[in-house]
Amino acid sequence: MIIDAHCHIDMLPAPENYLMEMEQSDKVTIGMTNSPTHYLMGRPYFDGLRHSRLAIGFHPQLVSQINDELNTFVSCLDSTSYVGEVGLDFSADYLSTKSLQITCFEEICRNLKGKSKIVSIHSRKAEREVIEIIKRNEVSIPIFHWYSGPLSLIPQIIELGGYFSVNEAMTLSEKGRRIISKIPLNRLLSESDAPYNRKSNIISALSNLHIDNSIIYSNFKNLINTIR
Ligand SMILES: [Zn+2]
Repeated sequence: MIIDAHCHIDMLPAPENYLMEMEQSDKVTIGMTNSPTHYLMGRPYFDGLRHSRLAIGFHPQLVSQINDELNTFVSCLDSTSYVGEVGLDFSADYLSTKSLQITCFEEICRNLKGKSKIVSIHSRKAEREVIEIIKRNEVSIPIFHWYSGPLSLIPQIIELGGYFSVNEAMTLSEKGRRIISKIPLNRLLSESDAPYNRKSNIISALSNLHIDNSIIYSNFKNLINTIR
């Protein structure tokens, strides 16, 4: 069973076909959304599926357009065990919304406190702040998606019970490989980040890393057991 822990199914060219194909395949996908509205639109398509799940998201890059959807986010939380894509992005293009991003992410995490949810997190150039906020709010199962921050923070994330979903693009860059080498095998998951990632083949990623998929599958099973 191949695990795609971070895929934007709703942004693919033909999401419904993808979902049908996945049902016939040996792949499990967690579908990200960028806003609560997108989650609500997509949700009915996932009813009854065995291989695909839809997460409720609040993308930090869109925060100025969606900040009035925070209440919707909170009111939908109990309808899914999956959250993402959420987090912070302090790279140059999004620095202007830094304080609004923090306000929203803090509120999101406050609402995740005490809940067993699998949370896929974007942390570009904001890794320290993300760690601080999830720690303060005791967010139970954070998955750092496409982590690109300092190596020195990886042990803190592990200590918080965090996982890392890694993709083919990471396995092809020196920095990405260095990051992956610091992650304990039992905290590793695979992802595509399709369609935003040109190098998104999960089987190639695992073969580049010389990691057997059974390890990823067993990590994923452990995760799923925590939300049951
Ligand atoms: Zn993403």
